Parts: sequence; structure tokens; C-alpha cells
Amino acid sequence: MKLVKLIANLGYGSRKDVAMMFREGRVTDPDGEVLYADDKVPHEHIRIDDEPLDPPAGLVLMMNKPLGATCSRKDQGRVVYDLLPPRYRVRDPALSTVGRLDRDTSGLLLFTDDGGLLHRIISPRAQVAKVYEATLANDLRGDEGAVFASGMLMLESEKEPLEPATLEVLEPRRARLTLTEGRYHQVRRMFAAVGNHVETLARVSVGALTLGDLAAGQWRALDQDDVAKIF
Ligand code: URA
Repeated sequence: MKLVKLIANLGYGSRKDVAMMFREGRVTDPDGEVLYADDKVPHEHIRIDDEPLDPPAGLVLMMNKPLGATCSRKDQGRVVYDLLPPRYRVRDPALSTVGRLDRDTSGLLLFTDDGGLLHRIISPRAQVAKVYEATLANDLRGDEGAVFASGMLMLESEKEPLEPATLEVLEPRRARLTLTEGRYHQVRRMFAAVGNHVETLARVSVGALTLGDLAAGQWRALDQDDVAKIF
């Protein structure tokens, strides 16, 4: 595929925009040598404004989702896609969030254009641990850990009991909860089922992947080593 078409398909701009990027010398190889639209170079040798070109498929991003943003593509308020460069909205294959976090939940949110990978992360069969930290309205009673670990907790309007989950009490009103599935409002509903109320909620890790020093609202692309930490 011609370089202009390849780069335009990744969402960097129209073919006309991309042709202009070549003329402006913004498309280079890893040594900073300017590339021309007719050059034949492997995908991984192309840089734009000194940043590696996005991969053609298999893109995985991690965001520290801020409070107040929703995981929808369109919403009256702020959506998580607004925090990404515009090219990720027009990219083909499309980028999706891996599961969802509520508007009032912050923390580690993944995006990918790889449907197989997405399924592997969210499928309960894969047993990928999603860890949440919650602050609660009431002191923990002491029996919640056993209830969550039982594999018998049935939430209202669900047909199947929840998979066993692990609770770690951090303070009387603060706890860490590890889930291997992701049902609708699951953490909030689990604490409601034991007579409590979640006041703040953040996802701190997925598998062994953590946010590191990513500030709220920031994102970064994951490499293969990062993705391997999920499983
Ligand atoms: N559980 C919830 O209740 N909300 C989230 O955003 C994630 C898990």
C-alpha cells in the first residue's frame, strides 16, 4: 500500500493532509531522515513528528480514566475518547474500551482494536484479576470477605451467582476487591448487597498491569511486554 494511503487509513488525516505532512518533512525514518511518499519502508520504520507510527492493527492503550468521563462513544458530557488524539476516533479497525468503567469510577482503562484480545481480557474464563479500591459510607461488618469469596452471592436481576471475589480490608471504610468478571456496576452492587455504599471507586490494576505514574486523564500505548502482564 502506498505510504500516503496507509498513514491516512490510520486516522492521521485525509490523503491530502498526509501528502502535506510528507512535503513538510514530518514523516521520517528512525534516524530522522525525511521520507518521501514513494519510498518503500517497513511500517515500523516510519515516524511522524518523531513518534512511531501507530501499528496497523493490534493497538492497545491504557488510560488513567478521570472521574466524570463516560466510556460511551457519544454522550452529552465528556467521553473517554475525547482524551485521545482525534485519529483514534476515525481509525479503522475501530478502537474500543475493554469493558467499561462508570462515569464515577476512575483508574485503569484499556482500549484496543483487537477483538480477540478484548474478549480474552473480559472473559471470566481467562481469570484476569481486575483490582478495585473502594471507599465506603459505612464501616465494614467483618463478614463481607466470606460472602464475596463464597461464589454464591446473587445480585438482583442476575441469573447466575457471582464468581468468587477476594476482599482485602485496608481501613474500616476502605477495601480492595479483586474480581475476575465485570458485570454491570458490579462493585457498587456487591457492597450494596452487604448493606454498604461505595463512595469512591478506582480500578488500580488489570492482571499485573498497573498505572505507574500515569496521571488522571493521561494515556499511553502498551507494548508487548505490557500486554503480557495482563495475563
Ligand atoms: N464496578 C462498578 O460498580 N463500577 C465500575 O466502574 C467498575 C466495576
